[in-house]
Amino acid sequence: MTLQDARTTVLAERLTAVRQRIEAAAGTSTAPTLIVVTKFHPAADVVRLRSLGVADVGENRDQEAAAKAVEVADADLRWHFIGQLQSNKAKSVAAYAQSVHSIDRGSLVTALGKAVAIQQQATGRADLECFIQLDLSEAYPGLADAQIASHSGRGGVAPSDMARLADQIAATEGLILAGVMAVAPLGVAPEPAFCLLAETSAALIAQHPGARAISAGMSHDLEAAMAVGATHLRVGSDILGPRPAVL
Ligand SMILES: *Cc1c(COP(=O)(O)O)cnc(C)c1O
Repeated sequence: MTLQDARTTVLAERLTAVRQRIEAAAGTSTAPTLIVVTKFHPAADVVRLRSLGVADVGENRDQEAAAKAVEVADADLRWHFIGQLQSNKAKSVAAYAQSVHSIDRGSLVTALGKAVAIQQQATGRADLECFIQLDLSEAYPGLADAQIASHSGRGGVAPSDMARLADQIAATEGLILAGVMAVAPLGVAPEPAFCLLAETSAALIAQHPGARAISAGMSHDLEAAMAVGATHLRVGSDILGPRPAVL
Protein backbone atom coordinates (compact mmCIF):
# COMPACT_ATOMS: atom_id res chain seq x y z
CA MET A 1 0.00 0.00 0.00
CA THR A 2 1.39 3.43 -0.91
CA LEU A 3 -0.45 6.65 -0.44
CA GLN A 4 0.44 10.00 -1.98
CA ASP A 5 -2.39 12.37 -1.32
CA ALA A 6 -3.26 15.69 0.30
CA ARG A 7 -3.10 14.13 3.76
CA THR A 8 0.43 12.88 3.05
CA THR A 9 1.47 16.42 2.12
CA VAL A 10 0.08 17.81 5.38
CA LEU A 11 1.80 15.10 7.42
CA ALA A 12 5.06 15.75 5.57
CA GLU A 13 4.93 19.46 6.40
CA ARG A 14 4.16 18.93 10.08
CA LEU A 15 6.77 16.19 10.38
CA THR A 16 9.40 18.47 8.86
CA ALA A 17 8.48 21.25 11.30
CA VAL A 18 8.84 18.90 14.28
CA ARG A 19 12.12 17.50 12.96
CA GLN A 20 13.41 21.07 12.61
CA ARG A 21 12.45 21.85 16.21
CA ILE A 22 14.31 18.73 17.33
CA GLU A 23 17.40 19.64 15.29
CA ALA A 24 17.37 23.18 16.66
CA ALA A 25 17.09 21.93 20.23
CA ALA A 26 19.75 19.24 19.72
CA GLY A 27 22.41 21.55 18.33
CA THR A 28 25.53 19.45 18.02
CA SER A 29 24.34 16.63 20.30
CA THR A 30 22.74 13.45 19.04
CA ALA A 31 19.03 13.91 18.35
CA PRO A 32 16.67 11.67 20.32
CA THR A 33 14.50 9.00 18.70
CA LEU A 34 11.23 10.49 17.47
CA ILE A 35 8.25 8.25 18.18
CA VAL A 36 5.22 9.50 16.28
CA VAL A 37 2.11 8.86 18.37
CA THR A 38 -0.61 7.68 15.99
CA LYS A 39 -3.35 6.87 18.51
CA PHE A 40 -6.89 7.66 17.31
CA HIS A 41 -5.62 8.04 13.74
CA PRO A 42 -6.11 5.35 11.09
CA ALA A 43 -3.63 2.75 9.89
CA ALA A 44 -3.46 4.65 6.58
CA ASP A 45 -1.72 7.48 8.43
CA VAL A 46 0.89 5.03 9.72
CA VAL A 47 1.49 3.96 6.11
CA ARG A 48 1.81 7.60 5.06
CA LEU A 49 4.28 8.31 7.86
CA ARG A 50 6.27 5.24 6.89
CA SER A 51 6.65 6.66 3.36
CA LEU A 52 8.02 9.82 4.99
CA GLY A 53 10.76 7.91 6.78
CA VAL A 54 9.11 7.36 10.16
CA ALA A 55 10.28 4.09 11.73
CA ASP A 56 8.84 4.41 15.25
CA VAL A 57 5.16 4.81 16.13
CA GLY A 58 3.42 4.98 19.50
CA GLU A 59 0.01 3.71 20.56
CA ASN A 60 -1.78 3.76 23.89
CA ARG A 61 -4.57 1.22 23.51
CA ASP A 62 -3.94 -2.43 22.76
CA GLN A 63 -7.07 -3.09 20.76
CA GLU A 64 -6.35 -0.24 18.39
CA ALA A 65 -2.62 -0.93 18.16
CA ALA A 66 -3.01 -4.65 17.53
CA ALA A 67 -5.46 -4.03 14.69
CA LYS A 68 -3.22 -1.41 13.09
CA ALA A 69 -0.12 -3.58 13.36
CA VAL A 70 -1.95 -6.30 11.43
CA GLU A 71 -3.30 -3.85 8.86
CA VAL A 72 0.02 -2.10 8.24
CA ALA A 73 2.00 -5.38 8.34
CA ASP A 74 5.42 -3.74 8.07
CA ALA A 75 8.14 -5.77 9.74
CA ASP A 76 10.55 -2.84 9.87
CA LEU A 77 8.16 -0.55 11.74
CA ARG A 78 8.72 -0.37 15.50
CA TRP A 79 5.57 -0.18 17.66
CA HIS A 80 5.94 1.45 21.09
CA PHE A 81 3.21 0.88 23.65
CA ILE A 82 2.84 4.07 25.73
CA GLY A 83 -0.53 3.76 27.52
CA GLN A 84 -1.90 2.18 30.65
CA LEU A 85 -1.71 -1.56 30.21
CA GLN A 86 -3.83 -4.25 31.83
CA SER A 87 -1.93 -7.44 32.56
CA ASN A 88 -4.42 -9.49 30.52
CA LYS A 89 -3.32 -7.54 27.42
CA ALA A 90 0.34 -8.49 27.84
CA LYS A 91 0.02 -11.43 25.47
CA SER A 92 -1.40 -9.29 22.71
CA VAL A 93 1.16 -6.53 23.17
CA ALA A 94 4.04 -9.02 23.08
CA ALA A 95 2.95 -9.97 19.56
CA TYR A 96 3.69 -6.57 18.02
CA ALA A 97 5.45 -4.17 20.42
CA GLN A 98 9.16 -3.58 20.51
CA SER A 99 8.83 -1.59 23.73
CA VAL A 100 6.44 -0.76 26.57
CA HIS A 101 6.91 2.71 28.07
CA SER A 102 4.27 2.45 30.76
CA ILE A 103 5.47 -0.17 33.24
CA ASP A 104 4.10 0.76 36.64
CA ARG A 105 3.76 -2.41 38.71
CA GLY A 106 5.32 -5.77 39.39
CA SER A 107 2.34 -7.83 38.25
CA LEU A 108 2.64 -6.26 34.79
CA VAL A 109 6.34 -7.18 34.64
CA THR A 110 5.46 -10.77 35.49
CA ALA A 111 2.75 -10.87 32.82
CA LEU A 112 4.99 -9.34 30.16
CA GLY A 113 7.82 -11.72 30.99
CA LYS A 114 5.53 -14.71 30.49
CA ALA A 115 4.00 -13.30 27.32
CA VAL A 116 7.36 -12.48 25.73
CA ALA A 117 8.74 -15.93 26.59
CA ILE A 118 5.80 -17.59 24.80
CA GLN A 119 6.16 -15.26 21.83
CA GLN A 120 9.91 -15.87 21.64
CA GLN A 121 9.34 -19.62 21.48
CA ALA A 122 6.77 -19.19 18.73
CA THR A 123 8.38 -16.47 16.60
CA GLY A 124 11.82 -15.74 18.02
CA ARG A 125 10.88 -12.16 18.69
CA ALA A 126 13.51 -9.85 20.21
CA ASP A 127 13.56 -8.99 23.90
CA LEU A 128 11.00 -6.38 24.94
CA GLU A 129 12.38 -2.96 25.89
CA CYS A 130 10.83 -1.78 29.16
CA PHE A 131 10.54 1.77 30.47
CA ILE A 132 9.41 2.45 34.04
CA GLN A 133 6.74 5.13 34.08
CA LEU A 134 7.30 7.65 36.85
CA ASP A 135 4.73 9.71 38.70
CA LEU A 136 6.52 13.03 39.14
CA SER A 137 3.83 14.90 41.08
CA GLU A 138 6.16 15.27 44.06
CA ALA A 139 8.04 17.84 41.96
CA TYR A 140 5.08 20.17 42.61
CA PRO A 141 4.76 20.28 46.40
CA GLY A 142 2.49 23.32 46.26
CA LEU A 143 -0.12 21.69 44.08
CA ALA A 144 -2.89 19.47 45.39
CA ASP A 145 -2.72 15.84 44.26
CA ALA A 146 -6.15 16.08 42.70
CA GLN A 147 -5.11 19.03 40.58
CA ILE A 148 -2.03 17.21 39.32
CA ALA A 149 -3.88 13.96 38.79
CA SER A 150 -6.41 15.71 36.62
CA HIS A 151 -3.62 17.08 34.46
CA SER A 152 -1.15 14.24 34.10
CA GLY A 153 -1.59 10.83 32.60
CA ARG A 154 -2.63 8.42 35.33
CA GLY A 155 -0.22 5.80 36.42
CA GLY A 156 3.43 5.68 37.18
CA VAL A 157 5.41 4.88 40.30
CA ALA A 158 6.92 7.39 42.69
CA PRO A 159 10.70 7.68 42.25
CA SER A 160 11.19 5.99 45.64
CA ASP A 161 9.40 2.88 44.35
CA MET A 162 11.42 2.61 41.15
CA ALA A 163 14.35 0.50 42.35
CA ARG A 164 12.31 -2.59 43.19
CA LEU A 165 10.55 -2.54 39.83
CA ALA A 166 13.86 -1.99 38.02
CA ASP A 167 15.44 -5.01 39.73
CA GLN A 168 12.45 -7.15 38.81
CA ILE A 169 12.59 -6.15 35.13
CA ALA A 170 16.35 -6.66 34.98
CA ALA A 171 15.93 -10.14 36.48
CA THR A 172 13.21 -11.20 34.01
CA GLU A 173 14.32 -13.09 30.95
CA GLY A 174 13.06 -11.63 27.70
CA LEU A 175 12.77 -8.13 29.15
CA ILE A 176 15.37 -5.37 28.79
CA LEU A 177 15.39 -2.53 31.30
CA ALA A 178 15.64 0.45 28.94
CA GLY A 179 15.09 3.36 31.33
CA VAL A 180 12.42 5.75 32.58
CA MET A 181 9.37 7.42 31.08
CA ALA A 182 7.22 10.31 32.25
CA VAL A 183 4.44 12.65 31.21
CA ALA A 184 4.77 16.16 32.62
CA PRO A 185 1.55 17.50 34.14
CA LEU A 186 -0.42 19.82 31.89
CA GLY A 187 -1.09 23.39 32.88
CA VAL A 188 2.09 23.83 34.92
CA ALA A 189 5.68 24.40 33.81
CA PRO A 190 7.26 21.03 32.89
CA GLU A 191 10.75 21.92 34.17
CA PRO A 192 10.33 20.72 37.79
CA ALA A 193 9.01 17.36 36.55
CA PHE A 194 11.79 16.98 34.00
CA CYS A 195 14.49 17.90 36.54
CA LEU A 196 13.20 15.22 38.90
CA LEU A 197 13.04 12.84 35.94
CA ALA A 198 16.71 13.47 35.12
CA GLU A 199 17.74 12.93 38.76
CA THR A 200 15.73 9.74 38.94
CA SER A 201 17.24 8.52 35.67
CA ALA A 202 20.74 9.12 37.07
CA ALA A 203 19.84 7.08 40.16
CA LEU A 204 18.61 4.24 37.93
CA ILE A 205 21.76 4.31 35.79
CA ALA A 206 23.89 4.09 38.96
CA GLN A 207 22.22 0.75 39.72
CA HIS A 208 21.66 -0.44 36.13
CA PRO A 209 24.31 1.12 33.85
CA GLY A 210 22.55 -0.02 30.66
CA ALA A 211 19.22 1.63 31.50
CA ARG A 212 20.03 5.01 30.01
CA ALA A 213 16.86 5.80 28.09
CA ILE A 214 14.61 8.73 29.04
CA SER A 215 11.23 8.75 27.29
CA ALA A 216 9.85 12.27 27.73
CA GLY A 217 8.71 15.18 25.65
CA MET A 218 5.45 15.59 23.74
CA SER A 219 4.19 18.14 21.22
CA HIS A 220 4.22 21.08 23.61
CA ASP A 221 7.25 20.28 25.76
CA LEU A 222 9.77 18.38 23.63
CA GLU A 223 12.39 21.14 23.95
CA ALA A 224 12.15 21.12 27.76
CA ALA A 225 12.52 17.34 27.78
CA MET A 226 15.52 17.47 25.47
CA ALA A 227 17.13 20.00 27.81
CA VAL A 228 17.33 17.29 30.48
CA GLY A 229 18.53 14.58 28.09
CA ALA A 230 15.43 12.88 26.70
CA THR A 231 16.40 10.00 24.40
CA HIS A 232 12.88 9.19 23.13
CA LEU A 233 10.27 11.84 22.25
CA ARG A 234 6.58 10.91 21.90
CA VAL A 235 4.95 13.42 19.59
CA GLY A 236 1.34 13.11 18.44
CA SER A 237 -0.84 16.12 17.75
CA ASP A 238 1.83 18.42 16.29
CA ILE A 239 2.28 15.85 13.49
CA LEU A 240 -1.09 14.09 13.16
CA GLY A 241 -3.25 17.08 14.06
CA PRO A 242 -5.93 17.18 16.74
CA ARG A 243 -7.26 13.84 17.87
CA PRO A 244 -10.88 13.10 17.01
CA ALA A 245 -12.92 14.16 20.06
CA VAL A 246 -14.74 10.90 20.73
CA LEU A 247 -13.85 7.35 19.94
C1 LIG B 1 -0.91 10.98 23.44
C2 LIG B 1 0.38 10.81 24.13
C3 LIG B 1 1.52 11.49 23.69
C4 LIG B 1 1.50 12.48 22.54
O1 LIG B 1 0.99 13.69 23.00
P1 LIG B 1 0.84 14.97 22.02
O2 LIG B 1 0.57 16.08 22.98
O3 LIG B 1 -0.28 14.67 21.11
O4 LIG B 1 2.14 15.14 21.32
C5 LIG B 1 2.71 11.24 24.36
N1 LIG B 1 2.77 10.39 25.41
C6 LIG B 1 1.69 9.72 25.87
C7 LIG B 1 1.83 8.81 27.03
C8 LIG B 1 0.46 9.92 25.25
O5 LIG B 1 -0.61 9.26 25.71
